[in-house]
Amino acid sequence: MTRLVNDPAQFADEAIAGFVAANERYVHRVPGGVVRSTAVPDGQVAVVIGGGSGHYPAFGGLVGAGLAHGAAMGNLFASPSTQQIVSVAEAADAGGGIFFTYGNYAGDVLNFDGAQERLLARGIPCKTVTVTDDVVSASPAQKQKRRGIAGDLTVFRSAASAAEAGYDLAGVARIAALANERTRSFGVAFRGCTLPGAEAPLFTVPEGRMAVGLGIHGEPGIDETGIPTADGLAELLVSRLLEEAPDGLGVDGARVVPILNGLGSLKYEEMFVVYRRIAELLERAGIEIIDPHVGEYCTSFDMAGTSLTLFWPDDELAELWEAPVDTPAYRRGSVAPRERATAATVVDDEATGIPPSDDASRSAARDVRRALETIVATVDANVDELGRIDAIAGDGDHGIGMQRGSHAALAAAVVAADAGAGAGTTLGRAADAWSNRAGGTSGALWGVILTAVAERLGDDGTPAASAVAAGVAAGASGVMAHGKAQLGDKTMVDALVPFSARLSDAVGTGATLADAWRVAADAATRAAAATADLVPRMGRARAHGRHSVGTPDPGAHSLALIVTAIGEVLADDRTDDRTDDKEAT
Ligand code: ADP
Ligand code: MG
Repeated sequence: MTRLVNDPAQFADEAIAGFVAANERYVHRVPGGVVRSTAVPDGQVAVVIGGGSGHYPAFGGLVGAGLAHGAAMGNLFASPSTQQIVSVAEAADAGGGIFFTYGNYAGDVLNFDGAQERLLARGIPCKTVTVTDDVVSASPAQKQKRRGIAGDLTVFRSAASAAEAGYDLAGVARIAALANERTRSFGVAFRGCTLPGAEAPLFTVPEGRMAVGLGIHGEPGIDETGIPTADGLAELLVSRLLEEAPDGLGVDGARVVPILNGLGSLKYEEMFVVYRRIAELLERAGIEIIDPHVGEYCTSFDMAGTSLTLFWPDDELAELWEAPVDTPAYRRGSVAPRERATAATVVDDEATGIPPSDDASRSAARDVRRALETIVATVDANVDELGRIDAIAGDGDHGIGMQRGSHAALAAAVVAADAGAGAGTTLGRAADAWSNRAGGTSGALWGVILTAVAERLGDDGTPAASAVAAGVAAGASGVMAHGKAQLGDKTMVDALVPFSARLSDAVGTGATLADAWRVAADAATRAAAATADLVPRMGRARAHGRHSVGTPDPGAHSLALIVTAIGEVLADDRTDDRTDDKEAT
């Protein structure tokens, strides 16, 4: 558990502030994360990593000479937002393009891809390789779906070494893909982690038992066994990873970098006892061990557990591996002193003025604010329940993510509306704030939905019911385009698509917004409940499909609760009159 907390909601920000204060030799803070505080030669490819907080030394602790140029740092276990990643990448850019690499998680992919799109549109070349080292998270045939765990380090370090050696963007991407292809990990856990302010661990393992195949966000294990001896654990880890040696590589005579990673509260001495046997087993298999690592490289808050990574470098990777590294949490060899960088570029997309609006739209902005107040109240009332159902197959953060997002959205809407913004701008600011503060998959997707609706509301005139319905429809298409989920994949799409379809139908046949919304919300509620029977095929829940049958998808459930609550407010209002007026025009 976490004993030292001020306000749990501020924990990640305060930890980043303290980390930067303690490591100014290495890093500068920029909006959304950190970049190197040492100079980078012009034209060098910038390696930008990132992910949620709670995994130290991943990700900020790995920024420095010979490793990452910047790290986007999200909230606890939540992906950084698109805007945060863009801000870090722009500050890290040295003119050679941006190379993104991070663990393969849905929320991170969504936000990093979004950032890459924005940067490409601004003329900054970018490439991405996601890390997929965790062998239990998908079968060998579906390797590209595997999640990233401690193998992040080998991919990050190989890519960064190539960048420092003067490889161009395509060359860095090639090296990273090769390193990823030659990295495999496998882990176990004895106790789940407890996030700051949380009452209970994200998952529990019965006393004396061990979860096999843990994820670094507290995703529960794939299997459970009794806790073996230290030697027994070494044998389990090594045998499973030798079965998965990269394609076409013989084990006998191979060169391997082993990384025994602590997940957060395992003693170094315990890991050394295990490593002693791992080294014996690798040598017995005819493997030449180079540069072994035993320590904490990617943690899961205070989880008790460990993972073994085997990295199988070819000649080129082995040579790149020799380059020295000096970062706050990771040092190898000796790096010559580097010049200090001048202050990092600070990007602030929010500092733009409020566009003009008319009275009718400013009045609609007050309705937007009321809708957001309703969302906040609904999320607050259900925060524990949403966390609980997300913990069954996901990582347990859906309640807190929705809470952070909706509160930030309301705060931004109040500021915008008070400054005279129309409905579109008010909701647009709320959408950005939601995705920035919530992080995670659902935060990014709620940002997409609200942005689409905001665009249809505009800043002139009273929005028509048809504009609202068209905005929701555009939001549903946007969610599917960004998240790539289809109906039946057990995601919020399963509630959003029927909601949108019924809303458009009813509005199209002349119903008032309040009436159409009620019909649509009922459809969303039924559809969300029906997701209980489905097996997830997207997002973090995918690896734990069978655990979730019988429980609805958290994102679909929260969406149904929210649209139902908004429907009640619309029914209480006399918005019907207004909608009729507009449709008559
Ligand atoms: P995270 O998965 O990053 O922890 P949350 O826990 O806040 O984010 O949200 C999880 C919800 O996000 C899921 O229940 C699901 O409804 C939704 N989700 C996850 N992946 C996708 C996707 N690819 N497309 C649509 N919705 C998704
Ligand atoms: Mg989650």
